[in-house]
Amino acid sequence: MAIGIKIAIDGPAAAGKSTIAKMTAEKLGYTYIDTGAMYRALTHKALSQSIDTTNGEELKSLLQETEIVLLPSKEGQAVIVDGMDVSEEIRSQQVTAHVSAVAIHTGVRELMVEKQRQLAEGMGVVMDGRDIGTAVLPNAELKIFMTASVEERAMRRHIENSRRGMISSLDNLKVEISERDRVDSEREVSPLRQAEDAVLIDTTSMSIEDVANQISELAEKRLAL
Ligand code: C5P
Repeated sequence: MAIGIKIAIDGPAAAGKSTIAKMTAEKLGYTYIDTGAMYRALTHKALSQSIDTTNGEELKSLLQETEIVLLPSKEGQAVIVDGMDVSEEIRSQQVTAHVSAVAIHTGVRELMVEKQRQLAEGMGVVMDGRDIGTAVLPNAELKIFMTASVEERAMRRHIENSRRGMISSLDNLKVEISERDRVDSEREVSPLRQAEDAVLIDTTSMSIEDVANQISELAEKRLAL
């Protein structure tokens, strides 16, 4: 029996990648892997140890001695770092503000990509991030580049934050999201960009269900090949 295909979902911040990736994985019975959560986990640990986020060597060493486990949970995925559940903490504004700086470093990215490829080995996966189609899984059978206007993305994150009981300002979110996209797109190592063979989906005026259905249809087609 076929073990399933690899589906890569990339795109800018807060484009709805994880919601869609989770839904698609559930639908297909695949494993969902949120690579942003891995960069967030390292950032959280670095900040809690007051490690300078411009120091790539120190961050790489920290990652080498860190165990990051992603477990399926009711919310989609629990993130366990060195045995501690940090699923909530890694979504804090402080982590969000520093994660792109941590993700710039070559040594950190090399180790992360290695871990991510191991996680995806031998099974059907839906993996979301910034460099999945271009660097982590360049041979993925289906690649999606998901985007939406910055206004729409800020609004979605704002609603998500309120649902979680977090206070946020729409204007600040727009600035934070644009700045994160800028750093992620301008970095030297595997910047955020659409893979040549990725399908572009602009979700600005689409419902979650429409996007999930479109991706499932594309996945069915690839599975039938
Ligand atoms: O997906 P999420 O917004 O949680 O990602 C947080 C940050 O992690 C991104 O803004 C980016 O800096 C970094 N990231 C990355 N490569 C990935 C996934 C996330 O550089 N594959």
